[in-house]
Amino acid sequence: MKQLEIKNSDEKITIGKVVCLGRNYAAHAKEMGNEVPKFPIIFLKTATCMIPSGGNVVHPDYSNNLHHEIELVLVIGKDIKNATEEEAENAIAGYAVGLDMTLRDLQNEFRKNGEPWTLAKVFDTSGVITPVVLKSEYRLKGNEKIFLSVNGETRQSSTLDKLLFNAVNTVQHISKKMTLEKGDLIFTGTPEGVGRVVPGDKISGGIENIGEIEATII
Ligand code: MG
Repeated sequence: MKQLEIKNSDEKITIGKVVCLGRNYAAHAKEMGNEVPKFPIIFLKTATCMIPSGGNVVHPDYSNNLHHEIELVLVIGKDIKNATEEEAENAIAGYAVGLDMTLRDLQNEFRKNGEPWTLAKVFDTSGVITPVVLKSEYRLKGNEKIFLSVNGETRQSSTLDKLLFNAVNTVQHISKKMTLEKGDLIFTGTPEGVGRVVPGDKISGGIENIGEIEATII
């Protein structure tokens, strides 16, 4: 999947880099036994790990603890560096719903050893994403509901006003550390309630007014 669909449009967006935030909801930082960060923790996923909503997440055989993380995704529409607040706002082309599927056992092992988490985050099919809702179609209010269930049972349920760093702050902050380009995606972090999934499980979730997402673990 290199191209991201846009809701109510024939145009597509070519996916660039995928920047992700960690610990952007206080309650999730707490459930993972972490301090709430002063600045967002930043890591990357690859464009090659992304699949569209409705697809299969292929459970790697080298992990025993695959976790779901539902997230608001920001889609960057223009190149920016060291953005002002206004430039950051203008650079957000739209929004999507994403799953940042994570190999928690590998991540915990890497953390313990002080090593990068990369391999816990980039296995093929580890990123699931819905079509993009353009900002011209819907303007994020910032208090939308975000939710996820596994086999019909609710696991994650929160609202976007619990984000420690909102959409504009996030884009502005990242643009001070690296150039953001058209087609880049920003996964803004997950609320509390993350948990294990196994082959056969069906994930469904969404963000109010943005979209609904589905994936099957195989
Ligand atoms: Mg995440």
